[in-house]
Amino acid sequence: MSGKEGDSLWPWDAPGQSPERGPGEEPDLPVLAGVGEPCPTCGETDGGVLAVKRGRFGPFVGCNRYPDCAYIKKDGPPPPEQLPFTVGCPRCGEGHLVARRARRTGSVFWGCSRYPKCDFTTSHEPLGPVHDADQGPVARRDDESGICLKCGAGVALPAGRLPDPGAPLAGGPPDPAALARLGGRGVNRPNLSAT
Ligand SMILES: [Zn+2]
Ligand SMILES: [Zn+2]
Ligand SMILES: [Zn+2]
Repeated sequence: MSGKEGDSLWPWDAPGQSPERGPGEEPDLPVLAGVGEPCPTCGETDGGVLAVKRGRFGPFVGCNRYPDCAYIKKDGPPPPEQLPFTVGCPRCGEGHLVARRARRTGSVFWGCSRYPKCDFTTSHEPLGPVHDADQGPVARRDDESGICLKCGAGVALPAGRLPDPGAPLAGGPPDPAALARLGGRGVNRPNLSAT
């Protein structure tokens, strides 16, 4: 009289599913970045968690409290790699430089952690050593020469391996014009990625 076993309507009786499965772990869905993280919109207030969803255009990551919360994680390029050492902001002296990705171009730049209070940015990666006169971070220009990101002084980069982060390097006189040229390609007004 009863149907064959396995006809239960409970979803976790279906093969491959179990009630122990947590949110975001639906079977047969790819692992996407962000799954399991608190929802940026409602995670703190309502405990929303990011989960993989099936959408018309394929799987995406969104809040598991949908439709109460409509947060959807936008896929973008991976976040840029952070510097392995701390570099103080050469403009305000309070923040430190954080690697970010320009929203429009996808190129990596380094900006002050106090943005928008401090809008310092550079497209030239700090190398680690500092200008001995003002402790400004030293970066490599496109022509391979060194420059202090604080005062614009030319800094002689030793051939071969660079000194350790924080090591002082001698430089020439301050050169604000060189610093302005360095940032003269729009890198001082980038579209900050919302991270
Ligand atoms: Zn949410
Ligand atoms: Zn700053
Ligand atoms: Zn300097």
